[in-house]
Amino acid sequence: MTNTTFKSPSGASNVTSVLIDAIRKTVGNKGCLLEPDDMAVYLTDRRSALVRSAPLVVRPATTQEVSEVLRLCHEANVGVVPQGGNTGLVEGSVPDISGGQIVLSLSRMRSVRELDVSNATLTVEAGAVLADVQRAADDAGMLFPLSLAAEGSCQIGGNLSTNAGGTAVIRYGNARDLVLGIEAVLSDGRIWNGLRALRKDNTGYDLKHLFIGSEGTLGVITAVVLKLFPKPQEQLSALVAVASARDASNFLSRCQRACGENISSFEYIHRNCLELVFEKIPGSRDPLDEVYGHYVLLELGSSTPGTDLRAVLETLLEEAFAAEEVENATIAATIEQSNALWKLREDIPEATRITGTRIGHDVAVPVALIADFLERGSAIVERMHPSARLIPFGHMGDGNIHFNMVAVDDAHGASFLEPESEIRRAIYDLVHEMGGSFSAEHGIGGLKKSDLVAYRSPVELDLMRTLKHALDPKNILNPGKVL
Ligand SMILES: Cc1cc2nc3c(=O)[nH]c(=O)nc-3n(C[C@H](O)[C@H](O)[C@H](O)COP(=O)(O)OP(=O)(O)OC[C@H]3O[C@@H](n4cnc5c(N)ncnc54)[C@H](O)[C@@H]3O)c2cc1C
Repeated sequence: MTNTTFKSPSGASNVTSVLIDAIRKTVGNKGCLLEPDDMAVYLTDRRSALVRSAPLVVRPATTQEVSEVLRLCHEANVGVVPQGGNTGLVEGSVPDISGGQIVLSLSRMRSVRELDVSNATLTVEAGAVLADVQRAADDAGMLFPLSLAAEGSCQIGGNLSTNAGGTAVIRYGNARDLVLGIEAVLSDGRIWNGLRALRKDNTGYDLKHLFIGSEGTLGVITAVVLKLFPKPQEQLSALVAVASARDASNFLSRCQRACGENISSFEYIHRNCLELVFEKIPGSRDPLDEVYGHYVLLELGSSTPGTDLRAVLETLLEEAFAAEEVENATIAATIEQSNALWKLREDIPEATRITGTRIGHDVAVPVALIADFLERGSAIVERMHPSARLIPFGHMGDGNIHFNMVAVDDAHGASFLEPESEIRRAIYDLVHEMGGSFSAEHGIGGLKKSDLVAYRSPVELDLMRTLKHALDPKNILNPGKVL
């Protein structure tokens, strides 16, 4: 058989026809996409809409197949980009510009392997879509609490690889906190079965945490044991209008003192975000009669049947009104009203995306400093970019704000982006000075590598490189991402 070397846009790659045949033999025709039209969706970066190229997209159906594909690629020195739902926002799930890397999509591995209600655990394959994982838990009368706007298409493997956050972190933690065990395939194809469903296990290093948040650079996650929780029996959402970000922050402290673990979400929304949603998303409307500067979308939950959350919230709001901390509030009376409030929040990223040009920052500071950050960050933007319209929103209860901006009017086009790098530097410097993180949820991918070098110490970077080299000495797993 002749062995043809695949020509990538940047020259010859290590992918040969022999390798492609061996992969095809492993995963079958169904698991091997070679036509540009079939591959396009896997090669398109969600954030920039740029389409990359690759010799093939491989879609294994079992852990054994993932193992064999990685063994073959390891032997041939071919870079492999693990991919979940491809909803990531930092160019981490698409190949680099060389055109020589292959994409390994987990989309055919979506089975529930075990649901154990008495142990409150769910074992699923990595390609399971987050919404399906939530549904499987719900059908069993339990809750899997990870929730984010991309949940209809992101996968649990991608959620763990990015240590996703979302709207319920204040109550249940990040993805990392929701996992008991992991099965992962190493760069040379060896399978590590760490699918232990244990609440306690101090037998040496906790290896699963190496793979969580490592963005596909240390191994391919193929299955996970997730923690389930009692389903809330009572739930209540409210949109609360406040005069300033500082009032929102003070209201957060009041809620935490009064409601503690009954708070399942505390989302901050600047008025500009709602205006943008009204402009860009047909059918959306203001739930309050008057216009206010800032809002909090609050959700309370209790797994104890009969808990009168409405009474709790009304008392809380009365006290907050008396303290002149809140200006108005609407409490959802029905599930439809609650969904409508949450839709407004979830439409913000989409409305921003529709505007085309945007400058975004996904930052975190200690919760107590969030109002300081919003005030100082806004002053920076007003000074450096007067034609920017700030669109800040996000998980205030976790100290995490999506500090985004769009052009005041759409006509600014590309010139709006000219000061982007100076603004980014100023915002990240502020965050750094406040002891915060320049990437709270979205990770590093291919987009924020230079920021990692700028804001993490040489010791921390050295430790990261040491881990990468130990687990992937040939650098075939998502090469060029994170480090
Ligand atoms: C509208 C919208 C809202 C969002 N909201 C949030 C939010 O609230 N909180 C938040 O944290 N993120 C949010 N995100 C970002 C994104 O949805 C999350 O990062 C999500 O967890 C990515 O999952 P995915 O399956 O799409 O992964 P992908 O985008 O496919 O991949 C992400 C990274 O993980 C790696 N990877 C994927 N699967 C595996 C695997 N099985 N094994 C090893 N590596 C793998 C990839 O190589 C890549 O580096 C949002 C995105 C959108 C579009």
